[in-house]
Amino acid sequence: MALSHLLGVRTPRAFFAVARRRQTFRNLLYLLIAFPLGCFYLIVLMTSFSFLFGIPLIIVLIPFWRRLGAFERELAIWWLGIAIPPFFKPRVAGQSWWERFMGSVRDAMTWKSLLFLFLKFPLGLAAFVLVTSLLGGAVNLIGALVVYIIGGTAGGAVHYYTVITLAAAALLGVLVLFLALHVLNGVTWFYGQLARSLLGMSMAEQRVAEAQAQTRAAQAQAARADQSRRELIVNVSHELRTPIASIRAHVDSLLMAEDGAVVSPPADQQAYLAIVARETERLGALVDDLLALARADADELRLDLAPTDAGAVVEEAYRALASLAKGERQVTLVRAVPAGLPRAWADQARLGQVVLNLVRNAITYTPAGGIVSITLAQPDAAHLAISVADTGIGIPPAELAQVFERFYRTDASRSRATGGTGLGLAIVRDLVQAMGGTVAVTSQVDAGSTFVVTLRVADAAMVSPVAPRDA
Ligand code: ADP
Repeated sequence: MALSHLLGVRTPRAFFAVARRRQTFRNLLYLLIAFPLGCFYLIVLMTSFSFLFGIPLIIVLIPFWRRLGAFERELAIWWLGIAIPPFFKPRVAGQSWWERFMGSVRDAMTWKSLLFLFLKFPLGLAAFVLVTSLLGGAVNLIGALVVYIIGGTAGGAVHYYTVITLAAAALLGVLVLFLALHVLNGVTWFYGQLARSLLGMSMAEQRVAEAQAQTRAAQAQAARADQSRRELIVNVSHELRTPIASIRAHVDSLLMAEDGAVVSPPADQQAYLAIVARETERLGALVDDLLALARADADELRLDLAPTDAGAVVEEAYRALASLAKGERQVTLVRAVPAGLPRAWADQARLGQVVLNLVRNAITYTPAGGIVSITLAQPDAAHLAISVADTGIGIPPAELAQVFERFYRTDASRSRATGGTGLGLAIVRDLVQAMGGTVAVTSQVDAGSTFVVTLRVADAAMVSPVAPRDA
């Protein structure tokens, strides 16, 4: 029978079995409550949208209708027994509320669920009309016979011809009733499909969400690995400091044995000891640099930022290195600190480390007879600049951008001979940036280099400038 095929039933038994299935009545109920729910969504959403004078309300509205969409999905799964793919994407840890909001604005589910909520009203109305007219019609057909017979037994005249006609109508009513149940099951199936496509992610969206979740998991794992690597460097460098300091102290006492307390070692041993002392010194410096960088990476750089007298820092660096530069490298160190400059916003000890690093480099890479100058200036009202300029070997233009990279040395063999590690400028950049400043370099090969550290002026210092100092 063509109709039975259309309804998906092959035998008359299967046609009537529809009334024995619990799902049939659950479907009916689903169709009946679709109308009031549709009315509710329409009223709530239309009222909310009409109140939506500005964008801010949408921040509340989007999560609200997404929840309604998720509720509809649960309802369809539970009531209709259908499988619907997930609605929400996995949550991303550490996202701000704004990122989460923008994520839901970009999420197709947000707009598909809104469409479903708006469709619920016309579809609910259609379902309501269909259920009441089909079932109502069938009940009327069956009910006419019952009413006629009850009327007859109550004393009225009963015409057998009418009874037969009404019996035929009641039979038709029964058929219509069962047919209606099949049709309404079909309508519910269609609603279920609609819910499945509008309230669950599509295969492509699921794949994208899965891929994103995997990427995020991999990123989180990489971040954890990175963090533990940094902590390892911090811990190892810290642990290495003590034995290195101990070796240095012992080698120094062996080298200074001439004071008679210890027997002086033979000349060749003395030379070896001097090498051990120099290498240990270098190892110590490398470990200190590594520790400083690892701390900066692990955000453990605890800066004590305050209005700082940058002139005093320049002066200190000058005093520490001027005679050494002259004596060991025949390089003249000069400084210029104009009077009445405001204080810089910096950590005094760290700024000292920065200036010392730059001046040491300048002395190291300047041949005998050269000049290294440290200058403090105020390029504009909000900034102070410390320049370290030398008349040294300079840096090739192609390498200028790289000198601040870790372990970068313009000429590895030359720098190794100078005892450098390639970490000094990386530390300078990290420290200056941590203080909210910048560092830049200009250079000309065989003419010299100038490193400029620019720091912010401390506001409080504008009111009380530091005492003038002679340049
Ligand atoms: P290093 O410990 O090797 O000096 P830095 O990070 O301090 O490491 O410097 C990186 C490289 O930049 C050095 O190896 C050197 O080649 C170059 N450099 C740094 N300062 C100067 C300078 N004043 N003049 C010439 N080259 C410099």
